Amino acid sequence: MLGMMMQRPLLISDILTFAAEANPKAEIVSARTEGDIHRQTYAETLPRVSQLAHALQGHGVHLGDRVATLAWNGYRHFELYYAISGIGAVCHTINPRLSAEQLIYIVNHAADKMIFVDTTFVPILEAVKEHLPANLVYVVMTDRAHMPENSLNALCYEELLIGMDDTFDWPEFDENTASGLCYTSGTTGNPKGALYTHRSTVLHALIVASTVGTAIPKEGKVLPVVPLFHVNAWGLPYSAPLLGLSMVMPGQHLDGASLFKLMDDEQVDSAWGVPTVWMGLMAEIKKQGRKPNGFSDVVVGGSAAPRSMIEAFENMDVSVGHAWGMTEMSPIGTHGVMPKWIEALPFEQMIDKKALQGRRVFGVELKIVDDHGNRQPHDGKAIGELYVRGNTVVAGYFNNPEASEKAVDADGWFGTGDMASIDTDGILSIQDRAKDLIKSGGEWISSIDLENVVMAHPAIANCAAIAMPHPKWDERPVLIAVAAGEDRPSLEDIHQHMSEHFAKWQLPDDLIWVDALPLTATGKTSKLTLRQQFADYKLP
Ligand code: ADP
Repeated sequence: MLGMMMQRPLLISDILTFAAEANPKAEIVSARTEGDIHRQTYAETLPRVSQLAHALQGHGVHLGDRVATLAWNGYRHFELYYAISGIGAVCHTINPRLSAEQLIYIVNHAADKMIFVDTTFVPILEAVKEHLPANLVYVVMTDRAHMPENSLNALCYEELLIGMDDTFDWPEFDENTASGLCYTSGTTGNPKGALYTHRSTVLHALIVASTVGTAIPKEGKVLPVVPLFHVNAWGLPYSAPLLGLSMVMPGQHLDGASLFKLMDDEQVDSAWGVPTVWMGLMAEIKKQGRKPNGFSDVVVGGSAAPRSMIEAFENMDVSVGHAWGMTEMSPIGTHGVMPKWIEALPFEQMIDKKALQGRRVFGVELKIVDDHGNRQPHDGKAIGELYVRGNTVVAGYFNNPEASEKAVDADGWFGTGDMASIDTDGILSIQDRAKDLIKSGGEWISSIDLENVVMAHPAIANCAAIAMPHPKWDERPVLIAVAAGEDRPSLEDIHQHMSEHFAKWQLPDDLIWVDALPLTATGKTSKLTLRQQFADYKLP
């Protein structure tokens, strides 16, 4: 027997209309490219989003059309999220750090109708415009006074809004309608597009809100350093309005000193980003001898957060939520908000737990399987490839039948390419990406484990462990390191430091000093680039 309840589509427009009514005073605070700090409440945002929606329709954007953004985190980018999806079009966020070749590929592959660009990124588009669709409409996200000279024949964002009706009758359509498009960085082959739906986005917003809601003070302020062009800033532009949280948008200055100042001035409670960003903030915290005012919660994800970083945050009473996810998962799969009994453990034991990748969020099932596809127990020991299933996980890729066919297995599970174990408390431990594991003499060495311990050495600012080919052992680990200061410890010193945690055969064969580690477009250490950089390297 079926129940007898209303069925209303889950639509993104409902998130903002809700926030404007129920959390009208919460703000979006933006460090703008114009150079000032701009403030606007959710109640003030809705009329502007309505005007923008009319403007989009006026430019012939209809249900299913793709509209691209190439922008920092700011209120206009937020407005685009809601206006584009609200009318049933698809918000295609583009990462400005992509190569020209990848940018050209995805704009053409997505067949974008319009592209909204921050002043800073205008030159990027000018350089490739010959290769972009001829009828693409360009809009620069600023006012007339700040419009840069350009060869794009670009329109001005603020002028688009002038004279438009500031109310909008948001259309109702199938909740499975596409709402957002985000291409994976594509370390091999062309980027692939994860095509989110209204349903998956609203569910993800609710899931994230129910997970982090307890960790952030009521009516608090959150700062996404994670870009709106990288998997929807981990869903924060949807979850924050639901929770009544104010958003502090950092714009283009993401160095430690700029972040510290913005967080301090605005009294940000919770900040979200990848580990490399927090290394910068940590250096500034050390310099100033204090943390930013109000800072009490940090969400770290996108790559493994070093244990030493988690410890340093916790030591200054900043609670760490170590999250794991993927572009293909909207992106959050697990989160490190811990139960009370773990928070109450002795410090070292608590850090041991927090250094892992947290527990699954509701709606995302996890399983680990061996090479033959057999499910492995969640006993904290068995390691296997991690598979996921749920309403916020991709079922295929946009306009890519070949990749779509392989995306999901016969039982409807998505293979993440990560090797992991899950303990009896349900806590996930990512050992490595399958392709980053170091295979030595038939045994696996986790590069993440090696890096975690080495990072705790005071002379090391950053490091990566990569596999180098070896005639006898197949592969051996080599450490690429960035020094924290003048001191350059020897390989023996590092071995000494690591010896408590590793067997002899697991220790790196060499130590190479570099000035900086290469980063991917999403700000993670690029092991692919490192492997290419050291392709001719010979083990000692
Ligand atoms: P890309 O790296 O191509 O930008 P994603 O941003 O989707 O793609 O990255 C997803 C991958 O990042 C995961 O499969 C995993 O390998 C890694 N990752 C994400 N979060 C963590 C974490 N907390 N710990 C370890 N690895 C992580």
